[in-house]
Amino acid sequence: MRKRFLFIFLSALLITACATTPVSNRSALILIPKSQEVALGKQSYNQILEKEKESEDEELNRIVQRVAKRITAVSDMPKLDWEVKLIESDQKNAFALPGGKIAIYTGILEVAKNEAGLATVMSHEIAHVIARHGAQRMTQQMLLQGAMLSAGLSMDNSKHRNLILSALGVGVLYGFSLPFSRSHESEADQIGLIYMAKAGYDPHEALNFWQRFSKIKGDNGPPEWASTHPADATRMQGLRGYLSRAKYSYQNLNVKYGLGETFNLDDIKKQDEAKKTPDRPEPVPGVSVETLGP
Ligand SMILES: [Zn+2]
Repeated sequence: MRKRFLFIFLSALLITACATTPVSNRSALILIPKSQEVALGKQSYNQILEKEKESEDEELNRIVQRVAKRITAVSDMPKLDWEVKLIESDQKNAFALPGGKIAIYTGILEVAKNEAGLATVMSHEIAHVIARHGAQRMTQQMLLQGAMLSAGLSMDNSKHRNLILSALGVGVLYGFSLPFSRSHESEADQIGLIYMAKAGYDPHEALNFWQRFSKIKGDNGPPEWASTHPADATRMQGLRGYLSRAKYSYQNLNVKYGLGETFNLDDIKKQDEAKKTPDRPEPVPGVSVETLGP
């Protein structure tokens, strides 16, 4: 009798906990209530931002906010409390936390080159949020540890805090977040490509962006963000597979921005040189980033 009750209870839990991801239509097990996921994302975001410097470049901020607005508006969660900050740093990075908290590093703009390149990064991050990859990872961690913490999961409890932070992939000490799994990465690529196209940016630029990105990896060793991302060939193949659907959305739009504005890279570099902070801790290999994408 008890067993039967437990079975019914667990089945009910699983049914209510299975969320279907928009665009990719995959189902995912999520045992974290959305309100809690959002609160945890926000807390982690604030912790990371305390250690970072926001860019004061008005022009770049204007473009970043414009791209974010266009993509979130066509996303499956236009009403989420989206927040996008431009961090001044030569890291080629970006990250996303549950609840719509996103950071773009000025270093990645050199690779983005133009608005459509930035839209590639931004839509990929937005897709991680919408697919609730952070909450999926928290759920995995909870199940692994046999912890049914969904009621009362709180950052105030130090045991919970470690679990939450490791699941969100936030290394608070370094201000980076951990990479997502390959399946989450390719799902974010897929969803992101569609969003980018719907927002009016030429989706073909996503392929160019990832090509530029892989070239840079060759130069200075892998930027943390990319080192854990899917192999380039796999990623390019995946993107090509989604491209016709994205192009279809793009072609049917009344307003198209193409590649958008091109960034003035010299300005970014000069600012980076002038404002380098040598006392920043070095990232630990394997600990870093969905710094763009991780
Ligand atoms: Zn990613």
